[in-house]
Amino acid sequence: MTVDSADCLFCKIARGEIPADVVAQRDGLLAFNDIHPQAPHHVLVIPTEHVPTVNDLAERHAELVGRMVLLARDVAAERGFAEDGYRLVLNNGRHGGQSVYHLHLHLLGGRYLTWPPG
Ligand code: AMP
Ligand code: ZN
Repeated sequence: MTVDSADCLFCKIARGEIPADVVAQRDGLLAFNDIHPQAPHHVLVIPTEHVPTVNDLAERHAELVGRMVLLARDVAAERGFAEDGYRLVLNNGRHGGQSVYHLHLHLLGGRYLTWPPG
């Protein structure tokens, strides 16, 4: 299931049409607090460009994806939990538990996270 950018929740957040608790914004990326946090720190990093899933990534997105990871890392450092550790998650598609079809990197931190996930 995919939606186009006009109806996409995270595109609406990127365009400022829906409010979000923005944490950082740089280089075509936006980071905001997850509305249903699963850890003391739960931030989503998205590209402002509409890319539905990892499956839709092209070679030209390689740097963008790298910068998503670096932005998440920087948020973890700024919030002071980088040394304790954290988890970066890209849920992809139905089996991956993806519910919003606009690429987003979860940054989860501030508590011990069990493994494996469900
Ligand atoms: P996923 O299940 O990987 O697609 O993750 C989607 C995430 O988006 C979930 O963790 C939701 O809690 C989060 N979410 C949904 N709507 C909003 C919103 N309006 N603002 C912030 N986070 C949201
Ligand atoms: Zn979108």
